[in-house]
Order: sequence, then C-alpha cells, then structure tokens
Amino acid sequence: MFPTVPMAQQTLRQKLEILADAAKYDASCASSGTAKKNSLGGKGVGSTEGMGICHAYAPDGRCISLLKILLTNHCIFDCHYCINRKSSNVARARFTPREVVDLTLNFYRRNYIEGLFLSSGIVRSANHTMEQLVEVARILREEHDFRGYIHLKTIPEADAEIIHQAGLYADRVSINVELPTQAGLTRLAPDKNAGQIEGAMGRTRARIIEAKDERKRFRHAPRFAPAGQSTQMIVGADDANDAAIIGKASRLYGAFGLRRVYYSAFSPIPDASAVLPLKRPPLLREHRLYQSDWLMRFYGFAAQEVADAAEADGNLPLDIDPKLAWALKFRASFPVDVNRAAKEQLLRVPGLGTTAVGRILAARRHRTLRLDDVARLTASVAKVRPFICTIDWRPTLLTDRADLRRLLAPRQEQLELF
Ligand code: SF4
Repeated sequence: MFPTVPMAQQTLRQKLEILADAAKYDASCASSGTAKKNSLGGKGVGSTEGMGICHAYAPDGRCISLLKILLTNHCIFDCHYCINRKSSNVARARFTPREVVDLTLNFYRRNYIEGLFLSSGIVRSANHTMEQLVEVARILREEHDFRGYIHLKTIPEADAEIIHQAGLYADRVSINVELPTQAGLTRLAPDKNAGQIEGAMGRTRARIIEAKDERKRFRHAPRFAPAGQSTQMIVGADDANDAAIIGKASRLYGAFGLRRVYYSAFSPIPDASAVLPLKRPPLLREHRLYQSDWLMRFYGFAAQEVADAAEADGNLPLDIDPKLAWALKFRASFPVDVNRAAKEQLLRVPGLGTTAVGRILAARRHRTLRLDDVARLTASVAKVRPFICTIDWRPTLLTDRADLRRLLAPRQEQLELF
C-alpha cells in the first residue's frame, strides 16, 4: 500500500512525484528502458532512470529533454500489466490542464526541459480525457506561444475529431498497441481492442499525409504531428515470442508509417495482478528487439529474415546480436567481397554498420581494399573478418557455426551489463 495524501490536500509537488513516477513505465521516449549506469541508485548525473525527465529525438535529429508526466493516474480501465489500472492499490493524483501548463513553462524557462511528453490514465471517459490532454497542448501553443516539443499520447477509444485536434498541436502523437496479438490484449487488457487501436493509427497516418501535401501547396496550412506517430509494445507480459513481436512491428511500420516502435520489457509492478508472470524478462531481450528493429529500418532485412535468426522457440538468441545470428544461420551468404559486393550485401556483414559501409563504398572507388584498409574503416575487424574477403584475405578457418558463435559472442560479463 502506498502512503496516500487525500487528493484535495495534495500539493503540486506531491502530484508531480506521483504522476512523474507513474509515467516512467511508458517507454515511448528514447532514453526509456536504458540500464542505470551510476552508483547513486539510478539518480546520479546522467541517469535516465529518475522520474520526470526523459529524452527524445526531435525531427531535426537533436536529442532533447522532455518533462514526462501523466495528467492523471486514475483509470477506468483494468489492464493487468499497468500500475495505474482501476484495481491497483496506488496513490492517485490528478493535474488540471493549467497545472501541467504552468509546470511545463516553469521547467522550460529554467532550461530544464525542451518539451513535454504527456500521457494519462482514462478518467470519466476516453473523450473527456483526450479533451483534457488536448487542452494542455492548446493552452501552451495558443495562449503562451510555446514553441517547444510536445508529444501527446492519444487514446484510441476517443472520437477521431478529438485525436485530430491533438495532432494539430503536438509534434508527435502516439498510440500504444501494448501487446502484439489480440489474444494477448483480450487476456491482459480486456478494455482494449486491436481493431480500434489500428483504426486510430490509420486515421492518424492519413492526416499526417494530407497535412504534408497541403503544406506543399499552401505554406501556411496547419501542421499535423510533423514528427509523426509512434507506438509501444510490452515484451514478456504475455507469451508472444520475438518472431511475433517483430512481425507485428514490421506490419505497423508498413501499414501506418510509424516513426518508431518502442519495446518495453515488462517489469513486475507493485500489487501485481495474479495473471502476470512473476519475473521480468531479461532486459537483454528488449535490447535484441531494438537491434532487430534497426535491421529492418536501416539494414534492409525483411521481418521474416530477422525472425529466421530466432531460436526454435521463436525468440532471438540473447548471447549474440540478431545480425550475427542471421549470418551464422546463413553461412552460405558469406564471405562477402568488400571490393565488389553491393551495399545491401555489405550491410549484412556482422560488425559493419551503416557508417562503415559508407566508408568502404567511398574508399573502394579509389583503390582495391586490403584487410588492413577494412581494419581502418571499421570498429572491429576481428568481428568482420570471418564474413568478408579482400584482395589479400579470404577466411578459410572458422567456418564451423558453433566455433564462430563461441568466438564472436560477447563475454558473459558484458552481457550482464544489460
Ligand atoms: S488504459 Fe492505460 S493507464 Fe489505464 S490501465 Fe490501461 S494501460 Fe493503464
């Protein structure tokens, strides 16, 4: 049981403590889900674990700090994995829209933040809550001419017109799919529906495209979520394996033009529902899903190819990254000749990132590359060497998959960092 102060007597600071802490379970910010890297219990300099501030990437690529809070942690829904669900025994608090505006402006003027990430439990109804979220953004933009970044969580059960309003004020909107399958939603989030969630994503995508087209024709046409839409999936609360999660993410990117899918390893919550697993999945699983996401977005891998790297249980291996896992399974695709291979083939080589591939392509225009050249152009030639050939190098040993896996897997101490 959490210590409670009656809501009517809560100070702004007490509300902030409750509602910033409650928001930390939402992973839709770039810094969420990272491991703590300091000796002060996660609250030292540079910590991303403390409550209240998260980081995100603005459309121009800058990393910005956001005030990350909930409007309220009251909720009429009862999602089993959520600490704010109706049946959870937590201290509750609720901001008014004006209170959130004042906090945002205060922090912004002191240079603590460059924007706001606002989400909410559902109070009274989806429409009422969505109207309150939109009201925060409206006051900031219209009454205070706030130019900072705003990310609004939207509630798919709310009317399309209210969600549309959110996109007119926010830089980014997001709608959480929460779980990859309707079966998972039915079991763990009985008030939610995959069709409704994807319907809202589809309408948001259509409006983003319309607004972009209109701005090409009319310079002053209203903007609509210029930083696009994103979503979050919880990993490990249900029995969906990585292959199912990767397939779902790929479909969402394709169907709704999402900017990002965030993966959030389920973490056991105080006063947890009995239907949830008792243990959190390894944080490394979340990390492997982010790596697989990068393979699909930047390395030309199809979802099925990433899923092919999974083990027999459909989960990605934890001891090696998914690109290496794929390469070890499909050894016949290697070695890749760095002097002749197409960019797409080079991007498949474990240890070659997009920057290194760009350097190789540029360098080989002027000369034929030797292994030493590759070593200068890449971070770790030891990782790359078994999968490439150059004018003076062709791997002859280490063709055995088990050997390679043992040699190339990071040491256990490194894995334990996650
Ligand atoms: S609707 Fe959102 S806040 Fe409410 S219980 Fe579900 S996940 Fe939690």
